[in-house]
Amino acid sequence: MVTAVIVAAGTGSRMGTSLLPKQFLPLGGIPILGHTLRKFDQSPEIDQIVLVIREVDRAQHEHIIQSCEIAKVFAIAEGGKDRQESVFQGLQHTHPHTEIVLIHDAVRMFITAELIADVIRDAREYGASIVAVPAKDTIKQVQLTRVHNARHASADEDALFVVNTFERSVLWQVQTPQAFRFDLICSFHKQAKELGVKATDDAMLAEHFGQAVKIVEGSYRNIKITTPDDLIIAEAFSQHEENR
Ligand code: C5P
Repeated sequence: MVTAVIVAAGTGSRMGTSLLPKQFLPLGGIPILGHTLRKFDQSPEIDQIVLVIREVDRAQHEHIIQSCEIAKVFAIAEGGKDRQESVFQGLQHTHPHTEIVLIHDAVRMFITAELIADVIRDAREYGASIVAVPAKDTIKQVQLTRVHNARHASADEDALFVVNTFERSVLWQVQTPQAFRFDLICSFHKQAKELGVKATDDAMLAEHFGQAVKIVEGSYRNIKITTPDDLIIAEAFSQHEENR
């Protein structure tokens, strides 16, 4: 059995619409979450969906599931204070017969059936598999440094300075879905909770506990709709998809 855990318990604070989490914003008349859920619902590889939400948003989520005719939702779980806690809650509500679990951000609506199938295949073979794309930009490590402000003779200030430049050819930007053998990712999340290990994605926990993570080359379209600028780009991608 293959289950998709879709995390939608964020607040959308970076969108500047703190009352309306970003997955509820409409694109082409359908909420972003509706588009994302449809991709997984229509994938023949996915058996069940676990949706992780904020309790205050439950009615809106139930309305989207109904109006977008999503058939595979097995459970709706209440999220936590950060993404890691929300994923943990989602895993607790996943059917125990699950062999492979995909963890996906609700706001990445441009995921494709092919990429879903690819990460499932590689998670079966290697234990863990994630979608990523080669970094296009040069990435630098920076540090806040105390400097003397020449314009205001009396005042010192903190400014950002470069401390290191990473070799771009080995850097990849990571997206979701991230797929894992269910027993492995449950054990990593449980250990992380006990030991206080914090990670910004699930693969980071797998790496921390020594698990090899296979890369599937994804798409630059699989963006996380996080800021108002992302919404403009998402509208253009949607238009382009419709016109094809
Ligand atoms: O905040 P960030 O951009 O990392 O959010 C990525 C995904 O994680 C979003 O789909 C968001 O709804 C989800 N999330 C969550 N619970 C949180 C924070 C974020 O489910 N506490």
